[in-house]
Amino acid sequence: MVTSWRKCRVTVATLALFGCSPGAAPEGFRVALVTPGSIADAAWNSGAYAGLLLVRDSLGVPVSHVEARTPAEQEEALRTYAAQGYGLIFGHGFEFQAPAERVSAQYPNAVFIVTSGERAAGKVVPLVFRLSEASYLAGMVAGGLTRSHRIGFVGGVELPPVREAYEAWAAGARAVNPKVQSRLTYLNNWDDAVMGREAAMALIRAGVDMLHHNADAAGIGVFQAARESPGVYVFGANADQAVLAPERVIGSAVIDLPRAFLTVAREARAGTLELKVESFGLASGVVRWVPNPALDSLVPPELRAKVAAAEDSNSMADGRMGRRAAGSGEGGPVSEPGVPLRDVVEYLDDFLRIRDVADEPNAVNGLQVENAGTIDRIVAAVDASLEAIEGAGERDSGSASQETGTLLLVHHGLFWEGNAPLTGRRFRRVRALIDRNLALYSAHIPLDIHPDVGNNIVLARRLGIELEGWFGEHRGAPIGVHGRLALPRHELVSQIDSLLGTEARLLPGGPAATSRVGIITGGAGGFIGQARDAGLDTFITGEGAHHTYFDAMEFGLNVIYAGHYATEQVGVQALAQHLGLRFQLPWEFHRHPTGL
Ligand SMILES: [Zn+2]
Repeated sequence: MVTSWRKCRVTVATLALFGCSPGAAPEGFRVALVTPGSIADAAWNSGAYAGLLLVRDSLGVPVSHVEARTPAEQEEALRTYAAQGYGLIFGHGFEFQAPAERVSAQYPNAVFIVTSGERAAGKVVPLVFRLSEASYLAGMVAGGLTRSHRIGFVGGVELPPVREAYEAWAAGARAVNPKVQSRLTYLNNWDDAVMGREAAMALIRAGVDMLHHNADAAGIGVFQAARESPGVYVFGANADQAVLAPERVIGSAVIDLPRAFLTVAREARAGTLELKVESFGLASGVVRWVPNPALDSLVPPELRAKVAAAEDSNSMADGRMGRRAAGSGEGGPVSEPGVPLRDVVEYLDDFLRIRDVADEPNAVNGLQVENAGTIDRIVAAVDASLEAIEGAGERDSGSASQETGTLLLVHHGLFWEGNAPLTGRRFRRVRALIDRNLALYSAHIPLDIHPDVGNNIVLARRLGIELEGWFGEHRGAPIGVHGRLALPRHELVSQIDSLLGTEARLLPGGPAATSRVGIITGGAGGFIGQARDAGLDTFITGEGAHHTYFDAMEFGLNVIYAGHYATEQVGVQALAQHLGLRFQLPWEFHRHPTGL
């Protein structure tokens, strides 16, 4: 199911190489670009790179580019450029907003431009492209042309601008064809064209005959799928992508990134750049609907006239398509009153499949304690201990208001003892939640096994394991992941130690070098037999009973006990980050290690 776990990583060393522009005076105005993926994607990232080259050629300034995929690498890349004295640094995507704000606090001289960013904060300036306005027009054409009345969209990662493009595309189609049904698939990935093709093929098998995407390099697979499927047409995104399938691309929703980059760089060099949200829609000419002239004859004149009318209408020109926080234009963080708790809970229940995943009854997965109804921040912690609850609610202690509230996300909830009176320490925990207007949401097994933000998968990803499958049956379903990792076993132990801030214990029953490694976080010492049955030589978990030493030695398996708490920190953090992006809420992780 996962083919791109170990994409090339930008190390600090290569970054320093790329980041240095030989011959440039340190005081001179220099421009840097950090992209979240390959500049060979024929869309989002290649457009930014073209913009960088246009800046270099038009303004005659030194430029530098680096690709950085993970949040840690992205922040490091911004910091490296700022430390090297670059005056203007583009972080190319929504995901750069928070890192840019953190780095900006340390390097006040640099201006950070976050393309598709969220808010202006100090010298962090978002460029907002209302691509959704062009996606809406693409949707109108698709809605008018579809024969099956089914249209499909392939998204890279679920970020607000991507969701917004999808919603606009579907709304455009429905505006001309109320019978249209639209489908949406996320890849959780920007690079894997094979996955993009598979997702598009699945949509085509479901009857979809009009496809659109916002998936960068992974979107190239969508064009392959259309080329292989008679009667299926596709709409490009971010760049004019007609060249990818000239006989199948009806048109593209285009952002003229080079034009926008040059505008901003020119102003930044002149010192006239306003430190506020820079918003570009159809009216600016930076966002455009670009039909493929080769297929013009497919689009009936009445439909073309409707699209042109929509393009001209004022409602389109400043249509924000319902985006929260976009383009407020006044600078400074946008103050939002918060999000209804029930929206967040509904989303979490669905995302984590809370009602479908089997677990012990006393796990009580889902919302465990409600609050007054609104949340404006998220705190993640492993356990719903009194200390964690008091820490999470510190901000609102004594001054809890009905307008603000915190969602406390945990892996181990409150009710393990079953039906029991709310007295003593149970009472004190619940009272502390209610006093601070905290809502408590717990996800136990549903968080362990989640394929995107789960404890097991996130830890495997961080350790660089090439995932191959699932193992470890629990209540009828596998909960662990396993895959390939070739390392001396003591090196794996020290990697785990530094990654999780723990002191892992090795039961050295297996080979000195690992090759097939499995993970079940938490207290899974009882799964050593199943790890052996899955053909693993190394099993990583949190803790186990005394007799498991002999299991490990006699089954010939390396068992690494890395701590129950330590191994289960990663899932709640990944979930809080996902939720924060989804609802545009700030989040933090509160560490309360048990040492166990
Ligand atoms: Zn646990």
